[in-house]
Amino acid sequence: MRISVVIPLYNEEENVIPLHEQLSEVLTSMVDKTYEIIYVDDGSTDNTLSRLQDIQTNDKDVVVLSLRRNFGQTAAFAAGFDFVRGDIIVTMDGDLQNDPHDIPKLIETIKDYDLVSGWRKNRKDPFFSRRLPSMIANWIISRVTGVRLHDYGCSLKAYKRDVIKNLNLYGEMHRFIPAVASWYGVRVGEVETTHRARMRGKSKYGLSRTMKVVLDLITVKFLQSFSTKPIQFFGPMGLLSVFLGFIISTYLAFRKFFFIEDIGGRPLLLLGALLIIVGIQLIGMGLISEILVRIYHESQRKPIYVIKKILGTENR
Ligand code: UDP
Ligand code: MG
Repeated sequence: MRISVVIPLYNEEENVIPLHEQLSEVLTSMVDKTYEIIYVDDGSTDNTLSRLQDIQTNDKDVVVLSLRRNFGQTAAFAAGFDFVRGDIIVTMDGDLQNDPHDIPKLIETIKDYDLVSGWRKNRKDPFFSRRLPSMIANWIISRVTGVRLHDYGCSLKAYKRDVIKNLNLYGEMHRFIPAVASWYGVRVGEVETTHRARMRGKSKYGLSRTMKVVLDLITVKFLQSFSTKPIQFFGPMGLLSVFLGFIISTYLAFRKFFFIEDIGGRPLLLLGALLIIVGIQLIGMGLISEILVRIYHESQRKPIYVIKKILGTENR
């Protein structure tokens, strides 16, 4: 069995060498397993890349990818995934906040699953800027996606190869991989992992990440529930809106023709017209999305299902 470890690094010059020492110690101690480590330098502006080059010249199990500019953590993971050759892929942060000693535990657990996610039970990060937003985000993500995990933000995860290979990542999506994957029918597990405070270097994120995560969550939820039937999403809202607008307009017409009232200055008239127009647009949007969905699936020959195994077609 071969293990691939993928690690994104952005300006982590002080962490690279201790990281590699700890990691290779753990990986070499795992019997009957070979490994490769893929370090993805995400456009660092410090000495991260040259340190990685030194490591690579001395260790043939290391692959270094250097991105042209800073594309973000998700893109760095995606780049790493394109180069992995292992049967099991492990991802972790490059700042030593994840403990490489948890890797054997993940590999052990993944026997029963397709994806195992770490859970930073005792998280060592500032409370207000980190743990609180993350607690709220985890709660929302678990409700919205229906995948019950305690900690979506933990980078320390293990995947079976085919999970990775069927995945397209965008935005800040790496934290939603379990959600997206479970939509494909992947079995998702969770293990407790150690978390350490950041000793060297700076964190790359602040509170502004929360907003990005929320927007990505909306995208994921939409894709998950409606990507093959968008009219079912826009349609009901549109119909309801047109219906309400119709009632309001009928009522006003009634007042005008039977009670000979002036309705020109009534706010209700505006509302009625607005609801009808918005409703028609929503339905139109749903129809256009239906066409987009067909283009998406048919142009790329993407089926709307995922097959796990095929039996009995060998001798046809
Ligand atoms: N990272 C990256 N590109 C970025 C931002 C971060 O590759 O644009 C890497 C970073 O070097 C680290 C990991 O992603 O290895 C996690 O980042 P960080 O520790 O800053 O996040 P936090 O732990 O504070 O959530
Ligand atoms: Mg960190």
